Amino acid sequence: MAQDLVFVPLGGVGEIGMNAGLYGLGEGRKRRWLMVDCGVTFGDPVTTPGVDLIMPDIRFAKAQGAAIEAIILTHAHEDHYGALLDLWPQLKCPVYATPFAAGLLDAKRAAEREAPRIDVRVVAEGSRFNVGPFDVELVPVAHSIPESTALAIRTPVGTVVHTGDWKIDRTPVLGRPTDEARFRAIGEEGVAAIVGDSTNALREGISRSESEVAASLAGLIKTAPGRVAVTTFASNVGRLRAVADAALAADRQVVLVGRAMARATEVARELGYLEGIPDFLSPDAFGYLPRNKVVALMTGSQGEPRAALARVSEGDHPEVTLAKGDRVIFSSRAIPGNEKAVGRIINKLIEGGAEVITDRTHFVHVSGHPRQEELAMLYGWLKPKVLAPVHGEEMHLDGHADFAKSIGVPKVVRIRNGDVVRLAGGPTEIVDDVVNGRMLKDGKVMIFATEPTIGERRRLAFAGVVSIALAFDERGDLSGDVSVRFAGLPPRDDEGTSMPEVLRDTVLDCLDSLPRQKRRDHGLVEKAIERAVRGELQTVWGKKPICHVSVVGV
Ligand SMILES: [Zn+2]
Ligand SMILES: [Zn+2]
Repeated sequence: MAQDLVFVPLGGVGEIGMNAGLYGLGEGRKRRWLMVDCGVTFGDPVTTPGVDLIMPDIRFAKAQGAAIEAIILTHAHEDHYGALLDLWPQLKCPVYATPFAAGLLDAKRAAEREAPRIDVRVVAEGSRFNVGPFDVELVPVAHSIPESTALAIRTPVGTVVHTGDWKIDRTPVLGRPTDEARFRAIGEEGVAAIVGDSTNALREGISRSESEVAASLAGLIKTAPGRVAVTTFASNVGRLRAVADAALAADRQVVLVGRAMARATEVARELGYLEGIPDFLSPDAFGYLPRNKVVALMTGSQGEPRAALARVSEGDHPEVTLAKGDRVIFSSRAIPGNEKAVGRIINKLIEGGAEVITDRTHFVHVSGHPRQEELAMLYGWLKPKVLAPVHGEEMHLDGHADFAKSIGVPKVVRIRNGDVVRLAGGPTEIVDDVVNGRMLKDGKVMIFATEPTIGERRRLAFAGVVSIALAFDERGDLSGDVSVRFAGLPPRDDEGTSMPEVLRDTVLDCLDSLPRQKRRDHGLVEKAIERAVRGELQTVWGKKPICHVSVVGV
């Protein structure tokens, strides 16, 4: 068998979130592997009640053992690096990250108990290094976080460019713009395939620049009559810097509200991204500064219930309150699934008298992902033979595939999580598939999404639970009372009969119908009662809760 280069996405394809993939080089089972990114996706109260974090099932990667040479992080967004602390102990390989990503990872590790000591190798944007048989170059790209990188992965059978998250922004507020010269040079060498960001592939045109947002924010901060609060992702240091610059110009001081803000700005300041910006103040300053002399940078732009902005909107923050005449700017867009939570906060703020500005009313946000004209530019520089769309839901992947074909990319290969797709060293095709799926972080415990836990929890949320216990004496007669307990059921039926009474009667009727002989088989009795109780509740209530029956006795 000849050597080839394959790509195996374990997450992030057909979904937005939990990006993780493996590049494999070699012959069949003797391949060496390079993992790119290790991200999370977020749970929601309806589909995954009680679960905040969802991660890729990395059993396949773990099974490769020492053949995994390293993990490379393209950037420090949660959907690319958020699973690392939880999953790294299963892989224990070196992790390559830029100074900003390494800094954020370190800050996160320090805040978590029992976080593993990860072997992090700090590498600069633009650097090139060897990892096992892979020759990797980190090409700077503009995005909504400092030091986002695309990977040019050179191998003896060809070069693949893994774009990571990127856009073309020729005037970012900070950091390096997308490195056109490097991409053109790599294109000249020859590119076998691009594995590329599909997030905005359905959108025509070109996305606007961070510095245009900065100008717009500066105007809104300058003209604000009272206090100003701005919420955005803490990791969008360019945006934070834009707000800080605007505050400086408007003779206002910046107060940081929310731990994530403090963490991200500390890392950014250490790396020189906030040069010339006065020190930020802690939240207590918000109370004593004159109203027209303060700008608060707050966490909670996605409606997170425990974040600063949610608490402020509820009038529940110890140091920060907003009132009539104050201006709140959402320099963000709600990620699908978060709209309701964000809407609730906006309504609360308006109810409290604040003026709320969002990207629907003003130009206060841009996406960090490429639209069609930007895709066309990059693919023009790189001239790939093959495109594999990733980082998107089906509709984004499809749109990306269609667009790439329309601008002349010779071959587009549509892949799914778990596919093993050959990108170089032979015909482009899916050659295998591997175990893949989702892991849920439930409290402190990791479970597979295929396990019944979360399905049961959804059923509990819908119809509650009934527990029945009873005992028989030696003769097979009921000994003592039937114990009926439940949670999540209505207290009475529609006719006013109390629910415990309904349930107890049902159990007694069921027992009466069972011949003494059959009562010796406790399993059978339990099943019969369960069936009777669920049936009766279906009749009187219209729902069938989970029902646990225990029969004890001789
Ligand atoms: Zn992403
Ligand atoms: Zn990103």
